[in-house]
Amino acid sequence: MARKRKILIVEDNDDCRYLLALFIKRLGYDVAEAATGLAALDQARSTEPDLILMDLGLPGIPGDEATARLKANPPTSHIPVLILTAFHDGEQTNRALAAGALKILHKPIDGTKLQAVLQQYVPAEGEATPVAAQEAPPARRLPCLP
Ligand code: MN
Repeated sequence: MARKRKILIVEDNDDCRYLLALFIKRLGYDVAEAATGLAALDQARSTEPDLILMDLGLPGIPGDEATARLKANPPTSHIPVLILTAFHDGEQTNRALAAGALKILHKPIDGTKLQAVLQQYVPAEGEATPVAAQEAPPARRLPCLP
């Protein structure tokens, strides 16, 4: 059996990261987690995720800078990065897009929307079950801080 696709969740709020991880695992993905920008760089190298879900407001280097460093580093430059933030679109989201992030998603995010976006970029291995037929997601809207 092919390995599950892996999502690296970069989020400094523990509750938010926990809920995201729970939800994304239930969709059929493996997850890796990082709570800071620097940890994200380490985890991206060591766990080789198929996609990175990146917060912007992080301790140390922010998500847009972490994205820029990931994209500048050949071993991680190919990994798609989606931003998940409570920040309004502006300078920092623009910097993230300029650095190579593919999309800006806004918190709080609807679980159905998150699933659709993840499936669009990284189809879960053998995951053909329609959303409605699955067990209900743990939260309709995943509460997350900046
Ligand atoms: Mn944050």
